[in-house]
Amino acid sequence: ADGLLAFSAVEIRRSDKSGATGAVMFFARFLRADEIERVRQTSRLPANLTVIAERPAAQATGPRNLQSWLSGSTGEGPLDAAASGPDSVMGYALVSDVGGRPLAYFTTEHERDVGQLGRRTTWGLMGTLAALMIASACALLAMMLRLRRSWAEHAALQSEHRHVLSDLDQNQNRLAHLIEHDELTELPNRRYLDARLPQLLSRLQAQRQSLALLHIDIDNFKNVNDASGHGQGDAVLKIIARRLCTATSAQDVVLRISGDEFVVIAPDIEGATATRKLADRLLTAIRGPVSLGGLPLALPASMGIAVYPQDGSDGETLLKHADIALHEAKQRGRDCFAVFASDMNVQVNEHLALEQALRRAIDSDQIYVEYQPVVDLQTGLLASFEALARWRHPELGMVSPGRFIPVAEKSGLIVAMTERVVRQVIAQLSEWQRAGLLLAPVAVNVAPIQFERTEFPNFVHAAALEYDIDPRWISFEVTESAWMQNSSKHVVMIDTLRHEGSRIYIDDFGTGFSNLSYLKTLPVDAVKIDQSFIRGIETDASDEAIVSGIIAMSRQLNLLTVAEGIETAGQAQLLRRMGCRYGQGYHFAKPMAAEKCQALLEQLAAVQRVTETMTMRAFKKVAT
Ligand code: C2E
Ligand code: MG
Ligand code: MG
Repeated sequence: ADGLLAFSAVEIRRSDKSGATGAVMFFARFLRADEIERVRQTSRLPANLTVIAERPAAQATGPRNLQSWLSGSTGEGPLDAAASGPDSVMGYALVSDVGGRPLAYFTTEHERDVGQLGRRTTWGLMGTLAALMIASACALLAMMLRLRRSWAEHAALQSEHRHVLSDLDQNQNRLAHLIEHDELTELPNRRYLDARLPQLLSRLQAQRQSLALLHIDIDNFKNVNDASGHGQGDAVLKIIARRLCTATSAQDVVLRISGDEFVVIAPDIEGATATRKLADRLLTAIRGPVSLGGLPLALPASMGIAVYPQDGSDGETLLKHADIALHEAKQRGRDCFAVFASDMNVQVNEHLALEQALRRAIDSDQIYVEYQPVVDLQTGLLASFEALARWRHPELGMVSPGRFIPVAEKSGLIVAMTERVVRQVIAQLSEWQRAGLLLAPVAVNVAPIQFERTEFPNFVHAAALEYDIDPRWISFEVTESAWMQNSSKHVVMIDTLRHEGSRIYIDDFGTGFSNLSYLKTLPVDAVKIDQSFIRGIETDASDEAIVSGIIAMSRQLNLLTVAEGIETAGQAQLLRRMGCRYGQGYHFAKPMAAEKCQALLEQLAAVQRVTETMTMRAFKKVAT
């Protein structure tokens, strides 16, 4: 009587699922208007409950497919069905009584939104399509703009090309100028010389005129670069170029043909005196001090001269002969010029012959060693020896080191030669050692190229080991300029030799590019003051100043000093007074054969014995 009551019964089972407990839980609820409202709210659908028993007319109100469904339905369990109109979808759920008879049914209706979805999709699709079309239009526009710009550029370039073509003559001239001139000094270069000299010579030939070709090379220019950097080196080259131009006359041509090499062509120069005068003027102009990093620096140069037509009728021969003369000037001690003479050609050939002879001599007895004593200037006693290579050729006789050392250095033969000298020295020391003599250190001269070979310290080590000689008995002399060439590599090498116990001397000190500050960074033990300063020490105030300067500086840097080439007692005395520790020179002894050294070593041992005895006596005296 109260309306429809929905109920459910649930059997209560054991929580371990082993079976039923025998009890049933029973729920029931009236399906009233408030319940239907709750369904509407929770489902958000327009739900309705229609009771069939009360309103048998429902069959008339429900849709046709509902009627057929109702008539065919068993009414078991919640059942859903759908019926569709064009604008909405309808859903039904049948409610049956316990006997299975239909009692009521739920209905709900939902608006169809497929059309809406279709419209939305269509709009979306069209929007995307429109955006795509706009984007491609933009890209097309950009491409067209770019194409137009590149057309414009192309056209500009073409017009420029036309411009360039029309200016070809001018440009060709400019190019020729660039090719035939040196960028740094703006002087004509080697190509200019090669291209123009033949023309000039044929013109001179027609006019029966002469020409002087002066080949100039700055002495030790590499040292400037190494010590002060390439920037400074370039600046110096520019200064020299300007000076050469100033010192020449209008019809002369000044060229820079390579790094530190210049050529001056002086056409129509009359006679040898005029040529010499020009050469002097040029050398003086170059030599004038240049300020390099605040320090004044004199730059001597060497020069070789060849004269047309007597020294050569074509450019190539003239250049070759000027070069030979330049070589000769360098041989004469640099800072001078030499005029080509036909016997110089012979000398060049001689140089080649000498090289071949030396190659054969290296491993023979022709090369041997002489020893020049170095003495303690205070006591006059032997301090050490310098080993000097000697070459006795079967036909040529004695060849002086001044001649064969440069040949050996240029050809690379110096490497093998020095190794031979080192071995001979070590063998000699070993002989003296076996004879029970007191040893004195022997210094071997080492050329810079030796340090290009990393094996040198190993070689020395192996030789010393073989002869059982302590490496501290072998020292090495390295020229000052050698240090400048490849410092870091040399330093490693020299550190290794020093580590073994050898002493290192800087040879011919004062003749290189004397940036003295570098001395303190080098791993050396002693400085050998070059003989050119010693020679004038008594007469030339500047020589004396230089020598005393070197001694003072060496003392501050804890370096020993050796004066080379002492020839008079006066020089020895002066050097002793100046505080120079050691001396070497003809005044004490000339380089001598090993057999003669033996006497000196014996004498040294005797003096040492006497000194010891005297010291003992002095001690005894004090003690008693
Ligand atoms: P250096 O190393 O400066 O050797 C000293 C040179 O001065 C030697 O010339 C020596 O004989 C000479 N001398 C010594 N005392 C006097 C003196 O009182 N007055 C004069 N006027 N000269 C003196 P030498 O033997 O002709 O050697 C010349 C150069 O050849 C050496 O100069 C050295 O640079 C090089 N040299 C010699 N032997 C070798 C060597 O085995 N290897 C290398 N790389 N160079 C060597
Ligand atoms: Mg030496
Ligand atoms: Mg020397």
